[in-house]
Amino acid sequence: MVKPKSQHIALISVHGDPAIEVGKEEAGGQNVYVRNVGEALGALGWQVDMFTRKANATDPKIVQHTPNCRTIRLTAGSEEFIPRDHLFEYLPEFIDQFLAFQQEIGIEYPLVHTNYWMSAWVGMELKKRQNIKQIHTYHSLGAVKYKSVSSIPAIAKTRLNTEKLVLETAERIVATSPQEKEHMRSLVSLKGKIDIIPCGTDISRFGQVSQAVAREKIGISSDSQVVFYVGRFDPRKGIETLVRAIAHSQLRGDGKLKLIIGGGSRPGQADGLERERIEAIVNELKLREITTFTGRIDDADLPHYYAAADICVVPSHYEPFGLVAIEAMASRTAVVASDVGGLQFTVVPEMTGLLCPPQDAIAFSKAIDRILTHPQWCQQLGDRARQRVEQMFSWSGVAVKLSQLYTTCLVSQTLKPLEVY
Ligand code: UDP
Repeated sequence: MVKPKSQHIALISVHGDPAIEVGKEEAGGQNVYVRNVGEALGALGWQVDMFTRKANATDPKIVQHTPNCRTIRLTAGSEEFIPRDHLFEYLPEFIDQFLAFQQEIGIEYPLVHTNYWMSAWVGMELKKRQNIKQIHTYHSLGAVKYKSVSSIPAIAKTRLNTEKLVLETAERIVATSPQEKEHMRSLVSLKGKIDIIPCGTDISRFGQVSQAVAREKIGISSDSQVVFYVGRFDPRKGIETLVRAIAHSQLRGDGKLKLIIGGGSRPGQADGLERERIEAIVNELKLREITTFTGRIDDADLPHYYAAADICVVPSHYEPFGLVAIEAMASRTAVVASDVGGLQFTVVPEMTGLLCPPQDAIAFSKAIDRILTHPQWCQQLGDRARQRVEQMFSWSGVAVKLSQLYTTCLVSQTLKPLEVY
């Protein structure tokens, strides 16, 4: 059994503020991961300080989440939103602020868990300055991402170099799925120590409300067939595939099919432009009447949307883990997802949902129709999905495994990596 120390540790998430509302301003899975991991580790007895860049002048510098867990916002560059591909030049300032904060509170963190490649760079620089162990979670791999985008940003080379170096030098890398580990090995480096510890979800937050109650609350009629998407508006998320799948559905004509698309966006920004593009496709395919764009869904409402849905669709072109899939599964909702990345790990085809080739609207359409026309099976998929999440993907279980890893790294570096799944 793990026995965590009452010891200070730092989590670093330069661009993913753990204290921000998710569902807007590039905020998604990473923010949720860092916040929940931090709070769960705090509950196990660690003193967790989560560092992020201050991206809004009116945000407080420190947010205390629980007695043992807080967010600290460091000023690096102007205190406003800066897209992540333009943040690298502010990282030296971020490091100076981090060191100044350590001095202010009179401690040196012995361990840092970094998130995404920019924080990896910060962690590696800190290692040059003090005795600090580094654990790293990628959240996204440039080597995978750049295969599926049409324009490669100027920062790509720096990112790829950093991702290779951190794999080879960090005390441990946390891969969130076997698929992500495989990508690290085949596309980044054969060197370095990788543990597999998945992402988690709050099993007491999701799955507590029936479909009937949830539908009444949201205002959806009980005989509707509800297909649900939630997440950021980003072409990589494949929302277009989902919309085209609904257009192909054989059930389209019977008046019961509903498509709900949730997630925030900002007019004129990248996510706002993607939402406009999706809305134009919805209009062109004459799906306006059956489609609802909810905008950002509040934390309190999200469990109701998942529970109200018959199917949650995760049509991403690529997904390192995909928190939405396990949140839906925790809510007893069947998942139809792309057969990629971490989704191949979380969704068990024919048991908890179905997997389809990415960007294949016809395959998604058939999978959606197949589940919707077998309501009893649909319910079984949801029940088994809930069991799988309870067994493998609760935040408390994930935190115990991370805690064990931190303790191992602090005590010794010679033990074999864990394969926890
Ligand atoms: N999310 C939310 N409200 C929204 C949109 C998204 O709370 O309106 C949350 C969602 O519940 C999930 C996260 O944002 O926890 C998205 O994580 P995921 O890993 O699926 O995708 P990422 O954003 O990391 O690409």
